[in-house]
Amino acid sequence: MTPRPRNPRTALLAMTIAAAVAALSFTACKRSPSPGDEAAVSSASHAPDNETADQFIARVNREMRETYTELSSAQWLSSTYINSDSELVAAKANERWLTRLNGWIEQSRKFEGKQMSADTARAMGLLKLMTAMPAPHDPAKLAELTKIASKMEGMYGSGTYCKGEGADKECRQLGELEDVLRGNRDYAAQLDAWRGWHAIFKPMRDDYSRFVQLVNEGAKDMGFADAGEVWRSGYDMPPAQIAAETDRMWSQVKPLYEQLHCYARTRLVAKYGEDRGQVPGGMLPAPLMGNMWQQDWSNLWDMLQPYPDAGSLDITTALQARHREDYMRELARLGGSPDAGEMVEAERSAQLETALDMTRRAEDFYASLGMPRLPESYWEKTQFIKPRDRDVVCHASAWDMNLGGNAASEGKEAVGPDVRTKMCIDANEEDFTTIYHELGHVYYYLAYNAQPPIFQGGAHDGFHEAIGDTIVLAMTPQYLASIGLVDAQAQSREALINAQMRMALSKVAFLPFGLMIDRWRWGVFDGSIPPEQYNEAWWDLKAKYQGVAPIEARGEEFFDPGAKYHVPGNTPYTRYFLANVLQFQFYKALCDAAGFKGPLYECSFYGNKAAGEKFVAMLEQGASQPWQQTLKELTGGEQMDAAAVLEYFAPLQEWLQQQNAGRSCGWTAGGQPKSPAGN
Ligand SMILES: [Zn+2]
Repeated sequence: MTPRPRNPRTALLAMTIAAAVAALSFTACKRSPSPGDEAAVSSASHAPDNETADQFIARVNREMRETYTELSSAQWLSSTYINSDSELVAAKANERWLTRLNGWIEQSRKFEGKQMSADTARAMGLLKLMTAMPAPHDPAKLAELTKIASKMEGMYGSGTYCKGEGADKECRQLGELEDVLRGNRDYAAQLDAWRGWHAIFKPMRDDYSRFVQLVNEGAKDMGFADAGEVWRSGYDMPPAQIAAETDRMWSQVKPLYEQLHCYARTRLVAKYGEDRGQVPGGMLPAPLMGNMWQQDWSNLWDMLQPYPDAGSLDITTALQARHREDYMRELARLGGSPDAGEMVEAERSAQLETALDMTRRAEDFYASLGMPRLPESYWEKTQFIKPRDRDVVCHASAWDMNLGGNAASEGKEAVGPDVRTKMCIDANEEDFTTIYHELGHVYYYLAYNAQPPIFQGGAHDGFHEAIGDTIVLAMTPQYLASIGLVDAQAQSREALINAQMRMALSKVAFLPFGLMIDRWRWGVFDGSIPPEQYNEAWWDLKAKYQGVAPIEARGEEFFDPGAKYHVPGNTPYTRYFLANVLQFQFYKALCDAAGFKGPLYECSFYGNKAAGEKFVAMLEQGASQPWQQTLKELTGGEQMDAAAVLEYFAPLQEWLQQQNAGRSCGWTAGGQPKSPAGN
């Protein structure tokens, strides 16, 4: 797994340049294609004679900015109006962009070994890593790739599970199935929801394996071993080293995860019994974890809350109460006795009002740090709630539609930013914190918009994911009380453990999941996981890292990886693992900047301008320098490290050890249960 550079000069570059995979990402939570149009493609294919390397990069930046909006608009449409037309338009726009990107990369080759500024050298390297979907040079294959990509995303977004016949037919989409896992503790109902969603993706297997062949060919055309190596090249270090780095950080936090796993298992067994509350080997049953992918266990709060009497951190109930108030107000406005249609409309208005309210609350946190209010266009163009009349991709994402920062400085009129989020917001804790997360991307966009387009990306992709989550860490019980979402919290050991558990169920439970997705894909891309073992390898990795298992055999007739958005959406996932570590480092640094002295977990820098300034200074750098430098400017160190995670959760870890004393923790990942037929 080493890069295959064309000459030693490139080898050096490959190691020193940073690589925000998909620096241009307009949807950092999503995959990240970028712009292009027909006229520009032809102009890009005619590089002026005697163009210097610096001039070349300046031209690429200009052409990117000029043509960016076509692709972002096509992608936005295809995600917010799923149908065959928008799918076609998005695939075509993507095809043009990837053709154009390949053209630029081809042109950049003639500058290898030539004199150029450090910024230009860095930009040359970033160019190759601009897409997570390296495309073959062969135009027919490139077109096939973009078609498959759009098709898989459409399949995910419109995925529907139906059962029953005729008048009894009942169809549900992801949101409704997730509702079951979130709040319904009926064993059979949870199984049904989980199985129903996963069954949808059986037909995706062939598309995905073809997709893998095509992106690998694209990666080879660029000089990489496979697409996984392209993904691992985005970290200002050799590709093999980032794999080792993630292993190192995982070994730091694994003991904490094992304690949490052990505690959760005990509670599940208490609830569902020995047979149903765990899977042989001591693993957790996938359908019962309150989340379709077992990546976040917050929804099991009813079962896992350490001290039910020590103050409620039940944000969901508080949000739902607000939503009911909004609804009653809408009804009151109608007066008299509204008919069924009017009541539906009132419910819609209330839903939107609640979603806007939640978003304003999140914006307020960023503004309290001295960051700007969101532009008016954000409020006009964002998708806040799920439309009733069409399929959309509800998976939350943040978009920079036009790289709209410094156009003015290039002698043109400033266009102003066009940033958006796309969500289907419901009144619950998960969505509430997701809004804070997505706005982290949006504020990153706004801060680095002044950079040239190639540098408009995260210091690395994990940085992008960590910004909003750093804010989430600062949503302490005191903060939540100050905005009226929970009652004023009595200070007690019990309340502290409750608050820590609440964070751990989302952030610690996530860590192994954040690793396993790309362990699977790296293996798929490098061929060590062949198509006929896709599902088996998936569950082997789920078992190894998460200690999670299905409750029945999941043979190769299924394609369970397809049930997770980022697989059909082709979004690299290691970024989320890195982000879950980095956010604690950022949080600690910002608490220091705010002059906070107490234990780390008590710190909120809400309203602190000194912390805000330091944060913004980091955001403004974008991808313009190696991330190690950017990290050093914020934290003083150049290494990603999970020590701050352990420092933060020290009280909980101690408490968990007491709870688990005398129990045999851990699990044996001896493979998934086999069905009688042994398939
Ligand atoms: Zn994100």
